[in-house]
Amino acid sequence: MKIPTQILLTPGPVTTHPDVRAALAHDFAPWDDDFRPLYAGVRERVRAIAGGRSDQHSALVLQGCGHFVTEAAIRTFLPPGGRILVPQTGSYADRMNRLATEAGRVVVKLVIDPDRPTDPQEVAAALQADPSISHVGIVYSETGSGVIHDPAAIGRAARALGRRTIVDAVSAFGALPFDISAQPEVDAMVFTSNKCIEALPGLGFAVCPAERLVACAGNAGSWSFDLSDIHAHGLRAPGSFRFTPPAQVLYAFNTALDRFDAEGGQPARLARYTANMRTLYDGVRALGLTPWLAPEYQGPIIVNVRPPADPAWNLQAFVDALKARGFLLSNFYNTDEPSFRVGCIGAITPTDMAQAVAAMGEALAALGIHVPKAA
Ligand SMILES: *Cc1c(COP(=O)(O)O)cnc(C)c1O
Repeated sequence: MKIPTQILLTPGPVTTHPDVRAALAHDFAPWDDDFRPLYAGVRERVRAIAGGRSDQHSALVLQGCGHFVTEAAIRTFLPPGGRILVPQTGSYADRMNRLATEAGRVVVKLVIDPDRPTDPQEVAAALQADPSISHVGIVYSETGSGVIHDPAAIGRAARALGRRTIVDAVSAFGALPFDISAQPEVDAMVFTSNKCIEALPGLGFAVCPAERLVACAGNAGSWSFDLSDIHAHGLRAPGSFRFTPPAQVLYAFNTALDRFDAEGGQPARLARYTANMRTLYDGVRALGLTPWLAPEYQGPIIVNVRPPADPAWNLQAFVDALKARGFLLSNFYNTDEPSFRVGCIGAITPTDMAQAVAAMGEALAALGIHVPKAA
């Protein structure tokens, strides 16, 4: 099978640096004494990036994807039948709803305008009206819409009412600021290897207060998806996983963290992604296309674009035409009306993005689609 070189413009998995992919070339045995310090070191690095303190916070690694670690956080911190308020930010809030509901937890939906950041006062009002809600589930960067929600402001509202939060930072962590030490109401902040840290898929992460992990032992009702059990195992056997991990992926993740540090950490990454987003946002507008969100609500992670009104528009044909030019887009959308989605994250620069915009113009022309330029 011949695989062409292409730039992934999907909001995870992302384009990775060649050094990160090359790290996969090493074989490891996960119980070997060389691997254990690597794993322990990755946990320390993640805790530090999240603002965690070694005496208070624990960074946990779970094999698999973002859905797995989100489910694990919900199971660990809410007892069966426990109630969680979830602002309906878009398709990733819908996923949190389903994960919680199928785990036997009760979701109280807070309906909001999905094209705007969540208003913390609306969260406070919903919590005041229902004292039985223990948690708020917050999607930090809603990858469905591209809107950024503020887990610190929403968290302050929850904390003032004695409630706790679970933060889905899957498409945010590494690019958007997060400091768990300043947010004592957070039970879990979760993310994955393959988004803004720019590593390969296969690992989910959670950063949690250690004392909460201990206090919540026994909630999960699942051995696989129990963060308290992962924490306890880490104390008993430092540097060891409970079950076979993708050891090569963990090593590649460590390499991606080296690159993250060398770039200048979270502020530098946010600056690059923001520059990518602006190049794309302005570029599609110059092509005559309309981004889904108004500029003031457009986050730096993903831009949704309304398709041209031309009847010749066909998402798969557009994706194929772009792919032939070296750029891969998602062939689905997560908005309530048609759009195409473009990720601004990964090991790409504004120069790549400018080339992608040029390729979009060529692809539209190749499909015979005429886009009237805005006046
Ligand atoms: C990608 C993503 C997920 C799910 O991640 P998977 O690894 O596909 O399971 C969850 N939440 C958000 C906000 C995401 O962007």
